[in-house]
Amino acid sequence: MKLDATDLRYISADAFRVLSAVEQGSKNHELVPSALIAQIAGSRSGGVNKALGELAKKKLVAKVQNAKYDGYRLTYGGYDFLACRTFAKRDTIYSVGNQIGTGKESDIYVVANEDDEQMVMKIHRLGRMSFRAIKSKRDYLRKGQSASWMYMSRLAAIKEFAFMKVLHDHGFPVPRPIDQSRHCLIMELIDAFPLRQISSVPSPGALYSALMDMIVRLARSGLIHGDFNEFNLLIRDHRTEAEKARDDETPDERDERIEREKGDFPVKVELEGEEYEERKRREREGSLLEPVLIDFPQMVSTDHPDAEYYFNRDVECVRIFFARRFKYESSVYPKFTSVVRDGVREFDLDVEVAASGFKKEDRKVLEEYMAELAAHDEKYPEEEEREVASDEEYSDESEEEDEEEAQGVGERTGEAERLPEVETLRIGDAE
Ligand code: ADP
Ligand code: MG
Repeated sequence: MKLDATDLRYISADAFRVLSAVEQGSKNHELVPSALIAQIAGSRSGGVNKALGELAKKKLVAKVQNAKYDGYRLTYGGYDFLACRTFAKRDTIYSVGNQIGTGKESDIYVVANEDDEQMVMKIHRLGRMSFRAIKSKRDYLRKGQSASWMYMSRLAAIKEFAFMKVLHDHGFPVPRPIDQSRHCLIMELIDAFPLRQISSVPSPGALYSALMDMIVRLARSGLIHGDFNEFNLLIRDHRTEAEKARDDETPDERDERIEREKGDFPVKVELEGEEYEERKRREREGSLLEPVLIDFPQMVSTDHPDAEYYFNRDVECVRIFFARRFKYESSVYPKFTSVVRDGVREFDLDVEVAASGFKKEDRKVLEEYMAELAAHDEKYPEEEEREVASDEEYSDESEEEDEEEAQGVGERTGEAERLPEVETLRIGDAE
């Protein structure tokens, strides 16, 4: 589902009121009856029908017939619209730019505020490709009769924002969290490549240590990332252009350079003395290549019953990646038992997140769901797409899925679409 920013601009005040009414109605109804929409919106049914027509045409709502009655449900587009509208109203964002990422459970966009400062908007799309096995077994997916994808996606965004905030406040290298509404969050844009895209580093050992240190520091604060891999680590490169050029030299290029630089003076091939010490110091501190951790919906406490399993999996991810990509193997790696055995903690971040308003029952529901997703992915690694939640309801969106999947990671440039002028509206004011 692609966020259509052009449509964000053109919507009548009536339509917006009705859209908000559909959202409100979905809290208790999977399918919101027209009469209820009219009641919540406080409009005559004639006006409501016209507005519903406008919204359906823009695919912000979808008309669905079931056995008992006709009704409407909010689409992803409608939910996106409402979140963007809230961000715009709070002056968090002003424009939506290019999509820079798309995963199975999220879409990532570059957005900007009125001062043209770029940020990242992450839209959670849990349940978009949920599978029947879960759907039939788990009653929480129909909790309160509301649409499961809205509920799960919103939980993921709330959780991610809560973790990002606590981590950022405690000086962990994560993007600065900026705002959150519904299934979306806004965070700092990290101008860096994912580790996945980096073919070589000057000193793999230093980066390896920095990453393992991060895993240990997290665990000492009561947390395990749970998906600590090359996609979720962005590597900020603080090297100068000259340093980069030297680091990237092939042996042939190095010989050529020495040849070129040869004059009456002896040629310095490697760094030495103070320069060398300074560089080593920066490597050690991680201030040469600085890893930034992202993607937190699956984080768990070190008190989780499967904590050791998740911890070891995170460590293993780094080890395997470094062995494959950089041919770097080390016998030194952290072990869960020795890290948490003494019970000494730097902070209790798991406790802090719990206190930040991310409810315990929500945590459980989401943890279970994420674990199911991970188990499914492990079992069917080749599977491109999961089964669409409910064929009848989501058929229109599953077609668009293909298109979007093929798009992959885009560029970070391009013209941004402006968001709607923000009007003062009754129901829209609710949040
Ligand atoms: P998912 O849950 O789909 O894996 P992620 O949060 O990992 O979502 O983001 C997917 C991709 O989007 C990342 O691999 C990264 O390339 C990009 N991305 C996400 N957040 C940021 C950010 N704050 N700054 C820059 N790029 C980001
Ligand atoms: Mg990710």
